[in-house]
Amino acid sequence: QNRQPGIEGKMDPAPEYIKSTYTDANKLLDKVALVTGGDSGIGRAVSVHFAREGADIAIVYFDEDIDAKETKRFIEAEGRKCLLLKGDVKKAAFCKKAVEQTVNKLGKLNILVNNAGIQVPQKNPKAIDEKQLEDTFRTNIFAYFHFANEALEYLNEGDCIINTTSVTAYRSSPNLIDYSSTKGAITSFTRSLATNLTEKKIRVNAVAPGPVWTPLIVSTFDEEKIKSFGSETAMKRAGQPSELAPAYVFLASDDASFITGQVIHVNGGEVVNG
Ligand code: NAD
Repeated sequence: QNRQPGIEGKMDPAPEYIKSTYTDANKLLDKVALVTGGDSGIGRAVSVHFAREGADIAIVYFDEDIDAKETKRFIEAEGRKCLLLKGDVKKAAFCKKAVEQTVNKLGKLNILVNNAGIQVPQKNPKAIDEKQLEDTFRTNIFAYFHFANEALEYLNEGDCIINTTSVTAYRSSPNLIDYSSTKGAITSFTRSLATNLTEKKIRVNAVAPGPVWTPLIVSTFDEEKIKSFGSETAMKRAGQPSELAPAYVFLASDDASFITGQVIHVNGGEVVNG
């Protein structure tokens, strides 16, 4: 089974028409970005696109090393540095260490992408035990706080934070109650932190993906759900990670200099109520 859906051995998962319109313009030249969950799925596409735009990348990851090492190769092929930081974002001490190591090894920090996430589908609220509740909240929202707090020691005027939320924050998600609650929290976190940091001229925004083919989907949904995955969107398909990454590049670049506290929805036209 392909570990990274849509990626057949190289970072080229987008449909042809998207690939041909994407031009790199050194929009992030010599910036340093830390991307949590940057070894896989959306985070991997963001990391490689950022490198294409001239940034060095620190990747925080948890799983096996195979995806991280492959992502590092893609980034180095763009002529940029890649620092791999393996550890558990549920641990505040690791978040602090990861930010410090990024600055020590790559010299500074300009862009934080809070993206690592987990989801455990469940049939009803009683199916969520204390451990799952704690793991989901620690990974999907506590870690965002911890990374942001640590990053603020180093971020300066013109730097930014981008949080990955989800379409589930904006619609009913009966089988993802704890997950969608954390994603709702991220949108509020984004808005409030953005206002808090305007004086420091640090922008904070979020991207809300709709259905996207990543290992998260393959590992957490059953066969039936996977078969119909993306069919609820207006475009009647799920997206590829590389179709998400340009939104992150835009938000990270000076092109978005007047945008803060906002959520960009990249979801194939799925109806959202937010
Ligand atoms: P993915 O499984 O490919 O990536 C998740 C990443 O999070 C992995 O790199 C993993 O190493 C990391 N991670 C998980 N727990 C961790 C921990 N405790 N410590 C350190 N790293 C940890 O999945 P993805 O779909 O690319 O997910 C990325 C983000 O996008 C998540 O926040 C997810 O909720 C969000 N999202 C995904 C979809 C989708 O359809 N794929 C839709 C909406 C939102």
